[in-house]
Amino acid sequence: MSLIVQKFGGSSVADAESIKRVAKRIVETRKAGNEVVVAVSAMGDTTDELLDLAHEVAPIPAPRELDMLMSAGERISMALLAMAIESMGHTARSFTGSQAGMITDAQHGAARIVDVTPVRLREALDEGAIVIVAGFQGFNRDTKDITTLGRGGSDTTAVALAAALDADVCEIYTDVDGIFTMDPRVVPKARKLDVITSEEMLELAANGAKVLYIRAVEYARRHGVTLHVRSSFNNNLGTIVYDPENPAAAAFAAAHLKSIRSASAQGTESESAMEEPMIAGVATDLSEAKITVVGVPDVPGKAAQIFTIVAKSGANIDMIVQNVSSSTGLTDISFTLPKADGQAALTALRAEQEAVAFKSLAYDDQIGKLALVGAGMRTNAGVSALLFTALYESGINIEMISTSEIRISVVTRADTINDAVRAIHTAFGLDGDAEAVVHAGTGR
Ligand code: ASP
Ligand code: MG
Repeated sequence: MSLIVQKFGGSSVADAESIKRVAKRIVETRKAGNEVVVAVSAMGDTTDELLDLAHEVAPIPAPRELDMLMSAGERISMALLAMAIESMGHTARSFTGSQAGMITDAQHGAARIVDVTPVRLREALDEGAIVIVAGFQGFNRDTKDITTLGRGGSDTTAVALAAALDADVCEIYTDVDGIFTMDPRVVPKARKLDVITSEEMLELAANGAKVLYIRAVEYARRHGVTLHVRSSFNNNLGTIVYDPENPAAAAFAAAHLKSIRSASAQGTESESAMEEPMIAGVATDLSEAKITVVGVPDVPGKAAQIFTIVAKSGANIDMIVQNVSSSTGLTDISFTLPKADGQAALTALRAEQEAVAFKSLAYDDQIGKLALVGAGMRTNAGVSALLFTALYESGINIEMISTSEIRISVVTRADTINDAVRAIHTAFGLDGDAEAVVHAGTGR
């Protein structure tokens, strides 16, 4: 018997009708002979509504109480889902995060999972029940309080349950058919990927892809959980996110590819099962800004000084570029960071202007970042040349470049980012033949 963890997001359980539809789907998985554990998000926009309500009664809601409030959203959906399943003649039992043994640190609103002790879930499964767990929430042993994992945290709940229960796969149900070469809302010709490595998925998520939360992808990669991202609106096979080094995961991905190929009857005998494409996809990020420290003395220790100041301001920096120093002995250092961290970093730098002895600061929040990701970059030459040529031919200026082993990122003007991404998508042969179907449109 296989154990399957399924995660349904808010848009999949937005109303009674949707909950019944999801219940049916869960029951089908159970009837096929699997043990089923479900992580569920709050219905539709419930979490946002609860947040708004909190801010109506208090300008700065107490963090402990805010978590108490927000965790209620998932309690509603889990109970309704269990009821719907029971009324279909199957046994289901719902559990809060703390009942499920989701142990976190004490940080309200952004708690991290430190341990999972799913004793009660295992018992319920052994008794033949379908298990429903409230996503996004946990419990801290020291404070004995309820915590939440941060927005979108139900993905992480599902992955953590899959790891702790040693599930065969963690299915993430969403409103698109899987992971695409690029967000189909921006590039309608984006192609659905049948498989992607967890390393590539991590780079895409870290660089702005929204289909999966980065913390869930990190957790899955660290604990060897294979993910299947698929639509809750149809029965199509979605995208497997797996670690090719793990034989069980590789076999799972190969079987998935085989099913897709036999379903579409396009498979040919010569096709090697796991032929990896050079490029997995493209991601964009419009949430960053650029700070340039102008006229920095080109002597040892200045970068250390600047980035210590920035780090102390709490900003999380991303790309860094230092220009070659001119004959004046001065250089410019630019870096990108989340817009939300911009003001704090500027204030901190301004306060130390004399000590660092730079001339001025420039702040630019009209940048866009684009990342091309693919494990095949390791072994293929000419990827950067093709990328830069595609941008040049579209008349797009590159402001910053950074690379990792399997990624090239560039910063351009924000208003050219969609043109840039479409040009690159085409240049790397990623365009599909059909337009992707987006069912709900929120991405969650
Ligand atoms: N309900 C929570 C949120 O909206 C958690 C989730 O949906 O994953 O952020
Ligand atoms: Mg939600």
